[in-house]
Amino acid sequence: MPFRVGLGQDSHRFSHVHEKRPLILGGIEIKDCLGLKGNSDADVILHALFNSLAQLIGWKSLGSHADKMVKEQGITDSKEYLKEPLKKLKEMNYEITTVSITLECKKPKIDPVSNEIRTSVAKILGIKKEQVGIIATTGERLTAFGRGEGIQAFTVITAIHKDIKKFTGKKNK
Ligand SMILES: [Zn+2]
Repeated sequence: MPFRVGLGQDSHRFSHVHEKRPLILGGIEIKDCLGLKGNSDADVILHALFNSLAQLIGWKSLGSHADKMVKEQGITDSKEYLKEPLKKLKEMNYEITTVSITLECKKPKIDPVSNEIRTSVAKILGIKKEQVGIIATTGERLTAFGRGEGIQAFTVITAIHKDIKKFTGKKNK
């Protein structure tokens, strides 16, 4: 297959005020908002991206991989979970072309931090900021996410085989 597409999803509930967890989205801390619950740093964007990558390379979802890293090595930094699937994608000779992130949440407001998140996600995935898009919606508050109980993330990653001429007879440029 010269092209691959991976759709990922993840969701987390907000923690309680007294738990004082920071909100981490796309590898950066978002100020003035409650953190999300989870065994790890609960980075809902990176978890959804992991699930996108898992689809691209034919792995199972994040759960088992992350649980193992938390239990066996005490790793809670979600950036670490992405390293192995990214390595695998590279070994399969694919490179990421576009990343699309859609968040369903009432808070935080994403527009003011969207550039920072795009820069961070691009750095983590080893691509350019221009390849990463992000939007957020409250979905007319029809779900718990839109009503402010948590954050849901959907992500799509597209990848192209580096040796695409093998498939099309044309050069990859
Ligand atoms: Zn998660």
